[in-house]
Amino acid sequence: MANIDSFNFAGKKALVRVDFNVPLDENGHITDDTRIRGALPTLKKILNDGGSLIIMSHMGKPKGKVNPKYSLSQIKDAVAKALGTDVAFAEDCATADAMAADLKPGQALLLENLRFHPEEEGKPVGIDKEDPGYDAAKKEMKARQKDFAKHLASYADVYVNDAFGTAHRRHASTAVVADFFDNEHKMLGYLMEKEVKAVDNVLNNIKRPFTAIMGGSKVSTKIGIIENLMDKVDNLILCGGMTYTFAKAQGGHVGNSICENDKLDLALDIMKKAQEKGVNLVLGTDCVAADAFSNDAHTQICSAMDIPDGWEGLDAGPETREKFAEVIRSSKTILWNGPAGVFEFDNFTAGSRAIADAVVEATKNGAFSLVGGGDSVACVNKFGLADEVSYVSTGGGALLEAIEGKVLPGIAAIKGE
Ligand code: AMP
Repeated sequence: MANIDSFNFAGKKALVRVDFNVPLDENGHITDDTRIRGALPTLKKILNDGGSLIIMSHMGKPKGKVNPKYSLSQIKDAVAKALGTDVAFAEDCATADAMAADLKPGQALLLENLRFHPEEEGKPVGIDKEDPGYDAAKKEMKARQKDFAKHLASYADVYVNDAFGTAHRRHASTAVVADFFDNEHKMLGYLMEKEVKAVDNVLNNIKRPFTAIMGGSKVSTKIGIIENLMDKVDNLILCGGMTYTFAKAQGGHVGNSICENDKLDLALDIMKKAQEKGVNLVLGTDCVAADAFSNDAHTQICSAMDIPDGWEGLDAGPETREKFAEVIRSSKTILWNGPAGVFEFDNFTAGSRAIADAVVEATKNGAFSLVGGGDSVACVNKFGLADEVSYVSTGGGALLEAIEGKVLPGIAAIKGE
């Protein structure tokens, strides 16, 4: 595998997979350009070396069809402004041969949304998994995906993958394309390298005590990570909506709180495993209960094990917040995924805020803190604390799969694993 920092791109055409799946308002204006800014170090390095750029990305889920709502033409000017140079636009990523061939050193070309072609995702279209012809259709689509990837590869001398957000997908542009470059001509971009290092810090290079904070709404979506982390962490804080599945499993009364009744055994099993493995499992003891799922609901503080009928736990209570903060403050490695309450409502942010403040304090005292997975990132951004933790991951699903210990196809395709 080549290295972006030492590679000299002078005179080379670089095919760079980025994640420019930025949110747009109804007028097609970018509402958050974090992802564009995230890719700039890689893109600028290539241009500054005297290379040329063929930038490719997906946007949204157009499901293999052209859809102007997801056209990357809407962000071309913003990309040009961020790069400080003109950016040409290829209206079809699959027929950009001439435009790519014409690129001179220092020039940039943005390809239209890769997912306008079904070959990008490589899933057969218009046929259900249960249909008899599905396997044949899948095989045919995989062959088409390979041809599509080969065609993209033909535009350039070197391939760079800087799209961590899609690294858990084996798509044409994220993984298959890498097969058409030798080891000296494919590499991870700077953003991807940072993500890989951050994950390594919490999986393999652990300073103790190691605390994982898992929040969000459901235990069922986090079980893979919880199980993987159980062998690694010293403290496991489980918060958010999950609290009430654990409370009910232990015989508690949870009122209208979110609760997965089919996961009560799983909750008890997690508690048992934690005990067997010597992991300090920290659950909420009190909560802020509300009489409606609304920011303006009436509230009361009550035991997480005894919530009155008609009320639901929407945030961690004061005793719980202090308990969580104490554990976090004494940690040296911290992974945070998922809020401790319905933080989207301003009146139910206290639990997540207490976690965020403690993570920041621990970080100031030398801990490595990784915050990742959609909602916890939104959370630290809401509190304006993103710059005060060690690393905020750009990957949602990709980060979670990496932490579960899965090999990410986008990274494996480059590292040759
Ligand atoms: P997830 O995508 O599983 O990480 O869940 C994030 C969502 O969980 C956020 O939208 C929160 O509003 C929600 N959440 C956190 N705590 C609770 C709770 N006590 N009740 C209902 N939803 C919650």
